[in-house]
Amino acid sequence: MDFKWTPEQEAMKKDFDDFFEEAMKGKPAAWVGGLEDMFSEEGFPFTKMVCSKLADKGWLVGHYPKEYGGSGWSILEQLIRAEAAGYHHAPTGDIFGIGMCGPTLIVVGTEEQKKEHLPPICRGERYWCQGWSEPNAGSDLAALTTRAVRDGDDYIINGQKTWNSGAHIADWAFMLARTDPETKRSRGISYFLVDMKSPGITVVPLISMDGSHLYNETYYDDVRVPARNMVGEENQGWAVTRMTMNFERSGVGGFAGNMADIKELVQFCKETKWNGKTLAENPLIRSRLAQLAIETEAGRALAYRIAWLQETGGMEAIATTAWMASSGKVYGSELSQRVAAIAEQIFGLYGQLIKGSKWAPFSGKYIAAHQMSMGGNIAAGTSEIQRNMIAWTGLGLPRTI
Ligand SMILES: Cc1cc2nc3c(=O)[nH]c(=O)nc-3n(C[C@H](O)[C@H](O)[C@H](O)COP(=O)(O)OP(=O)(O)OC[C@H]3O[C@@H](n4cnc5c(N)ncnc54)[C@H](O)[C@@H]3O)c2cc1C
Repeated sequence: MDFKWTPEQEAMKKDFDDFFEEAMKGKPAAWVGGLEDMFSEEGFPFTKMVCSKLADKGWLVGHYPKEYGGSGWSILEQLIRAEAAGYHHAPTGDIFGIGMCGPTLIVVGTEEQKKEHLPPICRGERYWCQGWSEPNAGSDLAALTTRAVRDGDDYIINGQKTWNSGAHIADWAFMLARTDPETKRSRGISYFLVDMKSPGITVVPLISMDGSHLYNETYYDDVRVPARNMVGEENQGWAVTRMTMNFERSGVGGFAGNMADIKELVQFCKETKWNGKTLAENPLIRSRLAQLAIETEAGRALAYRIAWLQETGGMEAIATTAWMASSGKVYGSELSQRVAAIAEQIFGLYGQLIKGSKWAPFSGKYIAAHQMSMGGNIAAGTSEIQRNMIAWTGLGLPRTI
């Protein structure tokens, strides 16, 4: 692939960097930048404000077709924007609507569904959550038991979903329910768009170990959903689900965020002395930071390659590069854990101090990032499941389960 940007793309990159640098001056205290911050009580108004400014410029959802409110950007232009946002740890907008549900609707939604949902996503006005996992259906998602029963022009949904990131702020959910109880596993599942204000929906917070509120359980008690809100055919929702999964995994923003963190840590080590010498002179610290820089560049190259293959190969490439996206997801989520862990090692005992302590380095940003990063290799398919996918579809090894 050609790693060099065109002069127009270089100019875009500079515009995005300038925008995010300015926008992040108003960030809430101890902002780390993950979903935990974006959807927190304090962070959500900031997220909405930044995203609405991005939308005004046509930069929030550049890659959607213009007829639905996008700017018609190429995948590579979207990557430049994502990388700039990641570098500044800026709000990236509604990853569930912009990154998952919207692209799925563009490919398989009805014209009515596209017109109803895509423009508000592009304007940053409608936030989405993903209602897939259940207490007994995570990796084994096809085991889900939430039921949808046809009743006239509607379906009536009953069941429990869990780990729904951002369900407490979401306007809509894309969710899965079983429409044919006789058929087991992936057959008999349908894909619905549900207004979160529908009567019968109860959202219960699941508080994380750092005290933040991102996750939720969602209970559906006789929730009436119009049949026109089904995406794809009845009982054929698994194919739509697979498509959304392929859109779910990318990751260039994460690598860019790591680069910014490493730069910040290098500066800290140059300025901080221990036993009369700067930390930057300590061979162990130098070696660890250098190793992180190598790994981050390798991850970035992988993300660029995936975007470039998708750009040149279209929709077909999105399916065939899925195993590479799995590689990027495993690598990126585990690397983020290493960056946060090494930062805490550099800080020594101070690294254990959390937000609110005046002695916490970088206001406790890295310990918060470390705690958040633990979920990164579980969310959107665990590292074990991603490795299975890489083995089957990337390496052609036999499927064993
Ligand atoms: C931070 C975070 C955010 C999330 N956000 C959402 C969300 O917004 N919406 C939503 O619907 N869900 C969400 N989830 C749920 C997530 O998709 C599931 O947690 C994930 O799929 C794993 O399912 P599980 O928790 O039931 O674990 P299990 O599936 O029970 O897995 C337990 C362990 O067994 C391993 N394992 C299971 N099967 C296999 C296998 N076949 N081969 C090898 N190892 C295996 C797993 O890797 C894991 O280590 C989120 C989870 C996290 C942590």
